Amino acid sequence: MASLNLINLNKIYPNGVHAVKDVSIEIEDKEFVVLVGPSGCGKSTVLRMIAGLEEISSGELYIDDVMVNDMAPKDRDIAMVFQNYALYPHMSIYDNMGFGLKLRKMPKDQIKKNVDEAAKILGLEDLLDRKPKELSGGQRQRVALGRAIVRDPKVFLMDEPLSNLDAKLRVQTRAELSKLHLRLETTFIYVTHDQTEAMTMGTRIVVLKDGVVHQVADPETLYNSPVNRFVASFIGSPQMNFIEARITESNDTVSIGYKGGSVELNPKKAAQLKEKGYTRKDVVLGIRPEHIDITAADDSEQYDALVEVIELLGSDTYLFLDIAGDAVIARVNPALNVRVHDRVRVQFTLDKLHLFDSETEEALLQ
Ligand code: ADP
Repeated sequence: MASLNLINLNKIYPNGVHAVKDVSIEIEDKEFVVLVGPSGCGKSTVLRMIAGLEEISSGELYIDDVMVNDMAPKDRDIAMVFQNYALYPHMSIYDNMGFGLKLRKMPKDQIKKNVDEAAKILGLEDLLDRKPKELSGGQRQRVALGRAIVRDPKVFLMDEPLSNLDAKLRVQTRAELSKLHLRLETTFIYVTHDQTEAMTMGTRIVVLKDGVVHQVADPETLYNSPVNRFVASFIGSPQMNFIEARITESNDTVSIGYKGGSVELNPKKAAQLKEKGYTRKDVVLGIRPEHIDITAADDSEQYDALVEVIELLGSDTYLFLDIAGDAVIARVNPALNVRVHDRVRVQFTLDKLHLFDSETEEALLQ
């Protein structure tokens, strides 16, 4: 069992950088938690504090209900896999994987058992006699994982372990890590700046920015109900479109007006806004590219947008639109017959609309 509890963790580096600010996260046993955010947001610092490689400035860190703030890294029963995993070039793969255990004075036959088991899990059985330079990048990455697995730790920490792999191998290894997590039934904490990695592997995702946790949720919730504009923009590719808009109320209807048109909210969403006192207010309308419906404009006087660029991806097509001066991306079916400079009609899927406060950037609709 390995649950973790991070309570109001702060990290202030000696140079005064406040890298982690009041971070609180409860991690359950066997979860695959991903810390995601732009470069410099404090992800690695959080991970290194959990590993014991970085002192905690304030706050409390518990592993299995034991406070470990002052516990030495080697006593925490945690294994960490880094982006720049350095294998010992002169050692065989077997020795690379077993080296840490040897240092811990584990008996030889136990080391062999652990290494063989890890090699089997990772498909490295036939490569154990080789030297690192005789392996591909992906295989070397698996050896780095193997070195962690042989220790049978309570918690795996991974800091951008895939970023040195090429795109194809990254996709493969992503799936392998998910399988590994299921197989090992151990708690994984994984750091990445890549939202796709976070969304595909995490059972829960922690979105960080400037050292602050913005949202902790499962991938689906994060995608469908981001709590603010930052999370909405960070999760999803191409990213959500944001359009300056204004809420207006007339008679019983609440509408969102923007330069290129307006949409009427359904009664439930209208009621939510009224409840919060958000009628007649500047807001930002958010709509994901796949929630925009495009049809050809038959009457050339009646159109909503101009098609400026078309990107064909095979499975999808992205249209870069100009909606009365607002730049918007729509993801459409490749079978849609449109060309550059076409005028089109645009419809937003109403129940997929997001609204954000122009100033606080908080989401207004649930
Ligand atoms: P991330 O992993 O999200 O890219 P880091 O945790 O590495 O971010 O860094 C968070 C912030 O702390 C950054 O502003 C970084 O420059 C700063 N930082 C990281 N390590 C140190 C250090 N050893 N000394 C001073 N500042 C640091």
